[in-house]
Amino acid sequence: MPQEVPTTQDAPSASTNTARTRTALIVGASMAGLSAAAQLSAVGYRTTVVERSPHLRLTGTPIDVRGEALAVAGKMEILEDLRKNRVNSDERPVFTTFVNENGDAVAQLPLEMANDSDDDIEISREALINILHAKTDGTTEFVYRDWPVSITDGETNVVVQFASGEQKTFDIVVGADGIHSSVRRLLIGPESLYRKHLGVYYAIVDLPRSSKGISGESRTFNCPGRMVGINDYGDRSFGVFAYRGPETEYDYRDTTAQKKLLIQAFEAEQGWHIPFLLDAAWEASEIYFDSVSQVHMPRWSQGRVVLVGDAAHAASLFSGRGTSLAIMGAAILAEELHASDHAHGVAFARYESRLRPAVVKAQEGVLEARDFMVPETQDQIDERNRQFPLISLPLA
Ligand SMILES: Cc1cc2nc3c(=O)[nH]c(=O)nc-3n(C[C@H](O)[C@H](O)[C@H](O)COP(=O)(O)OP(=O)(O)OC[C@H]3O[C@@H](n4cnc5c(N)ncnc54)[C@H](O)[C@@H]3O)c2cc1C
Repeated sequence: MPQEVPTTQDAPSASTNTARTRTALIVGASMAGLSAAAQLSAVGYRTTVVERSPHLRLTGTPIDVRGEALAVAGKMEILEDLRKNRVNSDERPVFTTFVNENGDAVAQLPLEMANDSDDDIEISREALINILHAKTDGTTEFVYRDWPVSITDGETNVVVQFASGEQKTFDIVVGADGIHSSVRRLLIGPESLYRKHLGVYYAIVDLPRSSKGISGESRTFNCPGRMVGINDYGDRSFGVFAYRGPETEYDYRDTTAQKKLLIQAFEAEQGWHIPFLLDAAWEASEIYFDSVSQVHMPRWSQGRVVLVGDAAHAASLFSGRGTSLAIMGAAILAEELHASDHAHGVAFARYESRLRPAVVKAQEGVLEARDFMVPETQDQIDERNRQFPLISLPLA
């Protein structure tokens, strides 16, 4: 249930709250975390980002920035950079070409079906991460290979104990650490209460450019309950896997365990370029592998700690809106902290009540998208392909 939104009278006066520089810890350096760092710095916080990985994580499929997130990008003065780096264009009218097991084109999904409007900007994950990161330049301290192991929310500050052994205090903590959020687990409750597996696992691996002769386009092959693809555009090429399966116990930080699950799921399949893609995943130093999940929480904050992005409200990749919501949420959070003169309780409640309607909308309808991209049976694959005949000459 959305929490009640306090009125402006609950906000303390400016005079009680403006004497010193406020500090914010942001956990996670991805779409939500980098956006939050840039925007909280802009409203006067001294920001620290802690990221568990040794570096920014750049792997992934291109991402859509759409709807209100475009207006936020305008305010952040990054819209031109996004446009310069867009990978969707009039020259690529096809979102993906579906192929059969021999690689023959059998159906095509027009780009307009995958977009909300012509204004949508599809951009590589790497480009977007780099643009957001550049926006934090000079204002944010980054700490890599570290993460919180305990968070104590107090009357006047939050005390965070890090895995490295350091202990620090902050005025607020922003959990931007994705669907497996440790901020959520440490402070609010176990992941099993909030994360809902949508019956599909998904993986991405970087590939050499023009792998298997696929250049400037996306090709997708389905067999029952499985999907693989090779996408080559912008300046990157990557392989995509999705397979249906129940929630599986594994260490989601163990790359070898993830690779083994992927291989197990596809080893009986030899169609199209599956063996090549599995070899690429096995050899890669990094892959992205995760459950396709949604996160549903009755509230997104507790005390001085607030969640943004997937940690609070993952809609899943089938929504195509996770990144836009993360960027919007960070902007609304910063706006409300500023507007309430940093009365965190007021600001967190307003942030949630303003963003929640867009989250609810994004979380609806994802199962249809799942069934479209990863049909369960060959009949369903054939039926989908009949609905989307070839719309242009397939590239060689
Ligand atoms: C490497 C990667 C590749 C992705 N690829 C795709 C894709 O191809 N298609 C798609 O639809 N979505 C993808 N996503 C998810 C997508 O980025 C998000 O759904 C969306 O952009 C919302 O972003 P977020 O910042 O909330 O979460 P995420 O992008 O998941 O970022 C969470 C960040 O927190 C870090 N982190 C996690 N735990 C801790 C911790 N305890 N302490 C510190 N840091 C922590 C993670 O390393 C990560 O950088 C990917 C995410 C990642 C991390």
